[in-house]
Amino acid sequence: MKERIVIVGGGLSGLTLAYLLTKNNKEATVVEASSRLGGRIQTLKGSLETPLELGATWFSDMHGNLLSLIDELGLTKYPQFSKGISLFQTKSFEPPQKFFVPEAEAPSYRLKDGTQNLIDALAEKLNPKNIHLNTKVTAVTEHENGLLVETGQGEKLHADKVVLCLPPQLAGSQIRFSPPLPEAVSDILPSVQTWMAGSIKFVLEYAEPFWRKKDYSGMLFSHCGIVTEMYDHTNFEENKYGFTGFLNGGAASYSQEVRKEFVLKQLSELMGEEALHPVNYFDKIWSDEFVISEDQTVHRPHQNNGHPLLQENYMKGKLFFSGTESATEYGGYMEGAIRAAKNIFEKM
Ligand SMILES: Cc1cc2nc3c(=O)[nH]c(=O)nc-3n(C[C@H](O)[C@H](O)[C@H](O)COP(=O)(O)OP(=O)(O)OC[C@H]3O[C@@H](n4cnc5c(N)ncnc54)[C@H](O)[C@@H]3O)c2cc1C
Repeated sequence: MKERIVIVGGGLSGLTLAYLLTKNNKEATVVEASSRLGGRIQTLKGSLETPLELGATWFSDMHGNLLSLIDELGLTKYPQFSKGISLFQTKSFEPPQKFFVPEAEAPSYRLKDGTQNLIDALAEKLNPKNIHLNTKVTAVTEHENGLLVETGQGEKLHADKVVLCLPPQLAGSQIRFSPPLPEAVSDILPSVQTWMAGSIKFVLEYAEPFWRKKDYSGMLFSHCGIVTEMYDHTNFEENKYGFTGFLNGGAASYSQEVRKEFVLKQLSELMGEEALHPVNYFDKIWSDEFVISEDQTVHRPHQNNGHPLLQENYMKGKLFFSGTESATEYGGYMEGAIRAAKNIFEKM
């Protein structure tokens, strides 16, 4: 009989692990708390069908495992557009500084049709009956020779092995382990930073790339506006246009309508009144129950990512941590999510 493996979390790490297991004639059930796969990867389509990234967007030549997975799945990467005048706003009462990014620099890549394509391509390789959405894991209990996984919906899944592919702080706050995890482990879980938790990403869709026509790259860094960092978000085919970037943390307390108003005001002052007429504006504050735990004790970025205790197995070799925050290198990034999955796959 095939080993029963339950993967908690249907983000990049969980789906990569499920894909690797399936490819090697093993079976795994992916249990995902939210109503969609992808976790911190989420691509929207604008009304003009522009792929708009609310979550993970960029990668580079350093991300070898991600690049091979993209190739293996037949997906296409392309460089982030950066040609033209970029802007740096140091003070609100001074004009922005203008600079050019040299083309020779190592490029940042994006995925054609959006990062969600990676998630969809992985999910397509899995048997749909092995994916359970809207199913939050609440308990993992040692049971006879295996583990019993319980969900908020009252489901009980029997497993020989369980892999936790969710931010470690959520494993600590949302899942009751019986017997409990060693104290040293439960003590560190709230202090493992979830990369990008709390950040606010916005996307804008435009009918025309008015900034490119004025020789702007669309790249903006600001110390004084609501937009702190922004990039051109034109698609691979270069026929759908937009921007994406990050807002300053304080913007979380404004309504989305107010955030949009401030973003458009800042951009119109910098690049012209055309900025005031987008086809769409969306943003997302990444601080929901699928990312962040209320009892977290985090004081710095990447805190305890790749911690040695996350490399160990528990419950007599039946329970494992995966997910990008457990990766010893590139923890927090998409590359880390894939590395963590590969690492656990080799232990299965
Ligand atoms: C705004 C933003 C921008 C980013 N930009 C980049 C970038 O440009 N480049 C890059 O490399 N990385 C970026 N990242 C990071 C990247 O998104 C992550 O490294 C990667 O997606 C993590 O994958 P994961 O599978 O480890 O975790 P996640 O994507 O967090 O997946 C975990 C899954 O577990 C689910 N879950 C949570 N609790 C439970 C439970 N109790 N039971 C069942 N399921 C549960 C969640 O709903 C989620 O789907 C960004 C992240 C954000 C938020």
